[in-house]
Amino acid sequence: MSDNVFDSVAAAIGNTPLVRLNRLTEGIAATVYLKLEYLNPLGSVKDRAALAMIEAAEAAGELRPGGTVVEATSGNTGIALAAIAAARGYRAVVVVPDKSSAEKLALLRAYGVEVHVTPGGRPREHPEFVRNVAQRLAAEIPGAWYAGQYDNPANPAAHRRTTGPEIWRQTRGRVTHFVAGVGTGGTVTGTGEYLKEVSGGAVRVIGADPEASVYGGGDGRAWYIESIGHYLHPDTAADEWPLSYRPAIVDRLERVPDHESLTVVRRLAREEGLLAGGSTGTAVAAALRVARDLSEDDVVVAIAPDSGRNYLSKYFDDDWLTRLGFAPALTPAEPVVADLVTTAEVRVIGSATSAARARELLGEATALPVTVQRNGSGSPVVAEILGSVTPARLAAAPGDDPVSAHLDPPLPVIGATETIAAAAARIGDHRGPVVVAHDGSISALLDAAALKGTV
Ligand code: PMP
Repeated sequence: MSDNVFDSVAAAIGNTPLVRLNRLTEGIAATVYLKLEYLNPLGSVKDRAALAMIEAAEAAGELRPGGTVVEATSGNTGIALAAIAAARGYRAVVVVPDKSSAEKLALLRAYGVEVHVTPGGRPREHPEFVRNVAQRLAAEIPGAWYAGQYDNPANPAAHRRTTGPEIWRQTRGRVTHFVAGVGTGGTVTGTGEYLKEVSGGAVRVIGADPEASVYGGGDGRAWYIESIGHYLHPDTAADEWPLSYRPAIVDRLERVPDHESLTVVRRLAREEGLLAGGSTGTAVAAALRVARDLSEDDVVVAIAPDSGRNYLSKYFDDDWLTRLGFAPALTPAEPVVADLVTTAEVRVIGSATSAARARELLGEATALPVTVQRNGSGSPVVAEILGSVTPARLAAAPGDDPVSAHLDPPLPVIGATETIAAAAARIGDHRGPVVVAHDGSISALLDAAALKGTV
């Protein structure tokens, strides 16, 4: 219908604006546009895939009146499915990992969804792995249909049919580079395929990936930008990539560390007036890297999948950023935690370590953090801390047991750039070692007494 009038919320999905970046692109000759997918009526790029998957299921008779939509999702797909389900009279059941932001969980509940929160960071084969929980629920609930965005061909097809043609039309065929974060891969695959076809192969497609993600060659350890990248638990027997992602469509994959994504997304808000989510920071960081080498004839389009309103308690919260060591020192004149760190050695224990070996590693220490077992190099990520071990608990443990069976609660985490006073206040009356975080990783252990003695 014309004049922006629609018969339903689903009909209002798509046709999102392109907005040019003007300040972050200083010194760059090429034009960089951001496609504001967060202006979709349900708040994200996933509106498109959710609608396409529901329509395909209805057409195939897999989703019938009175049916239940079931999905495993970090949030946005669930939110879009929930809203469309509500408007069409379906029930919705959504399984989310516990690392999803509080805002996304609250949104799901607002649409009347039954939300199941399951621990994140589980191997693929684990019964608590998000997709396994969702598939089990779908099998149990009569009339349930499992959306399965990771492998559902309607997901990339939605972008091929809508996102790609919109970008081509909006740039009058001038787009030369397309940049998108890769989660299920639906956006980059469907949009990329269309733009390549319509341009006779001229458009370059760039995937933006968290540095640790397996897609770009990382070891799959955890990271902090939600909804993109491919995590790999070391106990996963067979790693499978989603069918929605066709890597051959990507000409270049930019690996972006979390701190760069966070810096860019905060600059977008403060210098462009664009409040976007973390994965937009990753996509724009990649777009700026690419654009730096281009000419004024080039037009780069990056996707802004969702809004920063989903992450006010994370990426836009100074306390969150500071605690994980992502923020620069807020009050540069005051001494910070990093000033107290005297050794570069990071002592952590992998979860598969035997109790006997852990007793040796513990030595004189009163506690050490236990993290997901990773044999590669690189600093352990705070998000992969499972707990801690203490001599008292280990003394009673059979020597062959893995330490993961004898965990105490995690040690407090303080940020390397926090003022010493703020960090001391954060840990309260905790005694013994605390974890010092820098850029989301464990950079050192510090004794609480050292922290308190200097305040
Ligand atoms: N960013 C956000 C915030 C998302 O919710 C998603 C969807 N998982 C993506 C990026 C990645 O999109 P896609 O699944 O199409 O690769």
